[in-house]
Amino acid sequence: MARDWGAGSIGTALARAARRLAALDETDPRLEAELLLAHLLERPRSHLHAWPGNPLPEQQETAYHALVERRLAGEPLAYLTGEREFWSLSLRVTPDTLVPRPDTELLVELALELIPPRASWRIADLGTGSGAIAAAVAHERPACRVIATDRSAAALAVARDNFERLGLGTVECLQGDWLEPLAGRPPSDLILSNPPYVAAADPHLQTPELQHEPLSALVAGDDGLSAIRRIAEQAPAHLRAGGRLLLEHGFQQGAAVRRILRQAGFGQIGTHRDLAGNERVTAGRIP
Ligand code: GLN
Repeated sequence: MARDWGAGSIGTALARAARRLAALDETDPRLEAELLLAHLLERPRSHLHAWPGNPLPEQQETAYHALVERRLAGEPLAYLTGEREFWSLSLRVTPDTLVPRPDTELLVELALELIPPRASWRIADLGTGSGAIAAAVAHERPACRVIATDRSAAALAVARDNFERLGLGTVECLQGDWLEPLAGRPPSDLILSNPPYVAAADPHLQTPELQHEPLSALVAGDDGLSAIRRIAEQAPAHLRAGGRLLLEHGFQQGAAVRRILRQAGFGQIGTHRDLAGNERVTAGRIP
């Protein structure tokens, strides 16, 4: 079977895989074919470009075929390769964590605009998942004391591994819901979160890739706002005067999140748009 599918060289296997992967929406089939083969061969993509004529032994060809078929069945590329780049940092990801999205880099950009370059702020990333936000901020602002929380012990283990591998071992990992593990800690200067915000009935959840991701990282209550409400309620008690909360949210949730932050006592509330022009991150400041 696999012989028929991709006999021969690295080059022919890549070309066939790319043709198969073209069936997926919104992907770059050639790039995905290369990333999967590079992962399987434990080589950089440049190796594939340099040696397209190298033979692909049958065993590897079979394994490659299996990976391509899993991808076609909707498994996110990042789960198949076990990694994803975020903010130019290579993060390990597993099905215990959401795959970091490029959208979330907006949250990091906005945080970095607020944090002075040599500041030693206390910063919390709630529901850190793979640790993407905490890692990016800790990487850019090494003097800051960053805490990453997650309710999932499995996710937190992935985050901890990422911090250590990136030389960011000073990021502290605490298990628990949102701000609960910060009880008794000094107030934070900045609280960040990309919480679950998809509504339970959102048809977007039927996307094959999303069905492989942890539901608890995607869906919050019936309306998608229950995690954001919890965080907004808890945050004022954990922020210093002048401290800020930055939340990622759905593109149609801007007005609702602004209202939630106002009701929770925040001022200077504003929403920022992502590269696609959608409302994506809302910030508020404790007076
Ligand atoms: N932006 C993600 C999606 O729509 C959802 C991420 C989240 O819920 N935090 O796929």
